[in-house]
Amino acid sequence: MTTANKTLTEILDAVRERHRFVLISHMRPDGDAIGSQMAMAYALRALGKTVRIVDRDPVPSQFLAFPGIDDIEVTSEVGEDFDAAIVMECGDLSRTGVKGLEKLFVINIDHHPGNTMFGRINWFDESAAACGEMVFDLIDALGVQLTPEIATHIYIAIMTDTGGFHFGHMTPATFDICRRCAEAGARPEAIARAVYDSSTLGRLRLMGAVLHSLDLEAGGRLALSHLSLKMLADCGATSDDSDGLINLPLTVKDIDAVAFFREVTSESHRISMRSKGSVDVNRVAKAFGGGGHKNAAGCSMTGPYPEIRKRLIEEMCRSLTAS
Ligand code: 5GP
Ligand code: MN
Repeated sequence: MTTANKTLTEILDAVRERHRFVLISHMRPDGDAIGSQMAMAYALRALGKTVRIVDRDPVPSQFLAFPGIDDIEVTSEVGEDFDAAIVMECGDLSRTGVKGLEKLFVINIDHHPGNTMFGRINWFDESAAACGEMVFDLIDALGVQLTPEIATHIYIAIMTDTGGFHFGHMTPATFDICRRCAEAGARPEAIARAVYDSSTLGRLRLMGAVLHSLDLEAGGRLALSHLSLKMLADCGATSDDSDGLINLPLTVKDIDAVAFFREVTSESHRISMRSKGSVDVNRVAKAFGGGGHKNAAGCSMTGPYPEIRKRLIEEMCRSLTAS
């Protein structure tokens, strides 16, 4: 039996033995976080389990219309009245932003490189295109029938984590899972429309402002953009409206990496990074105490913008040169 199969068997046993579950994902949840949680919730409830779904931050608006989303509770602390916590999509426990998990029997299911194996059971598969792929395999192994709701949430997880089937560890298995989801009632076109074509005017304005702020470094291979609090206010946009804008520069052939600086306060920024192919932005994020994947990573930095920008460019150039 392979290690992965052994871990899966341990999870199956742990799930069968236990009754009260809390399902958690990361702060500022994305499609993979929400899709994984919701699919797991439907599957566990089909097995007669009691389930609560908890996130530190609210669900972004483009996911609100999908089935069951109202069940997600926004809170930063959980009590002890659970037999297990299933933490999905989190490289370490602090990514949840939720307190009280240390006391629970934690099952860690994740695909982020560098996962700290913080659970009692750790199922970590870096080769999965989305955590939702792993959740699909678990649901399959539990013998739960795919319903339209489960299929929809698994499809959301995979579609969003691959940027609409654009990047990441896509394999034939990815498409086989999506095929099975479509067969079970997931509607790819409706899902893509709801997720990608349900924008606000604020976001459209913000897109213009962020693109206007764009400049190039590293001989045109690196794009940098900046989003200040003032730009948000001027565009009548919220910070949710900025999700995904980071990907736009990568549509340019010669741009291999992008860093998007989001002002949090005058002295602190969140930085999101994306890259193509072998350019490793996870290494850059780690140099500043963050993390993520090779082609999508993030970190926080403090200090005046011109200064942190310069430090990040230096580190980015190392990754670009090494690629
Ligand atoms: P995003 O730019 O969408 O916020 O994050 C991109 C990827 O990097 C995601 O997989 C996310 O989990 C990871 N990431 C973002 N910020 C951090 C951070 O501060 N620490 C760690 N460990 N990972 C991060
Ligand atoms: Mn993911």
